[in-house]
Amino acid sequence: MGVRPLPRLPAVRDLIKLYGLSAQSQLSQNFILDKNITDKIARCADIGPSESVIVEVGPGPGLLTRSLLDLGIENMVAVEKDSRFLPTLSQLADASDSRLKVIQGDMLTVQHDDILKALGLTIPQTKIKQVHILGNLPFSVATPLLAQWLGGLSARTGIFASFETSMTLMFQKEVAERIVAPVSTSPRGRLSVAAQSLCHTNLVYRVPADSFVPRPKVDAAVVHLVPLRESLLKVTFPELEHVSRFLFSSRRKTLRRIMKNLDSEAPAVLDQCQMDGNLRPQDLTNEAFNTLARAIVDSKLTLPP
Ligand code: SAM
Repeated sequence: MGVRPLPRLPAVRDLIKLYGLSAQSQLSQNFILDKNITDKIARCADIGPSESVIVEVGPGPGLLTRSLLDLGIENMVAVEKDSRFLPTLSQLADASDSRLKVIQGDMLTVQHDDILKALGLTIPQTKIKQVHILGNLPFSVATPLLAQWLGGLSARTGIFASFETSMTLMFQKEVAERIVAPVSTSPRGRLSVAAQSLCHTNLVYRVPADSFVPRPKVDAAVVHLVPLRESLLKVTFPELEHVSRFLFSSRRKTLRRIMKNLDSEAPAVLDQCQMDGNLRPQDLTNEAFNTLARAIVDSKLTLPP
């Protein structure tokens, strides 16, 4: 990736003042105005060779966007819901020599085809193999966005159909810790099993609340997710989510007790897959969790919705 620095631009802090871009809490707007921090997040992404493209979610006033462009990224699209940021982002797009495209929209509903169109990519001709989703995510939609992307990755839909798609995402610290939580630790839960069944997960950077303007109530952390060569799923992703919701809703109970509460015959499923019924859901490895999910789905037991 050849480094093509951006021309000198007004400071993001000044643009915020100039355009009156006060943060709106309903859009989870907490900005990072320190370039050392956004540079570090951009480097955490460990962006691969020149064929990589970046999808940035929620660029806001665009300092992280600048850090990414400073790395020499050639193809980048930024999806921002709040139209107030469009003037500053278009300025940045102009300064980037067309390396940056901007879509105004909600990342939860934006069509992935529109992202590819904005990038000028035609499949299957494109030589590009990797897409990297990156962002200081709006905390209010960070978990639904991750669930949607993991679903897309498992079913190979949208941008996950044609590209290897890694993600570097900022979450509230507690959510980040849940995503990467190892077996038998207290943060381990549904999100850990869902993410780790599909991706290598790594918490790469803790970002204190003081780094944001306005200061949120909690610290944040950046998680790097790289799809596993082969997913651990033995059921569909929605089925795994359903089993996971059921088991983790009784995380203090043993598996035998949880199953027995469902149906007096249900503990037999544990024996069928040689699962230790004295374990609790958070004690299962990702592989064991998927094995149990398969057995539960095959058993035709009816789980609560
Ligand atoms: N990237 C900027 C930074 O690091 O300073 C802003 C981060 S701020 C935490 C989250 C950004 O996501 C805001 O700009 C907000 O308007 C935007 N946003 C909120 N919900 C969104 C959604 N559903 N789709 C796209 N962007 C969204």
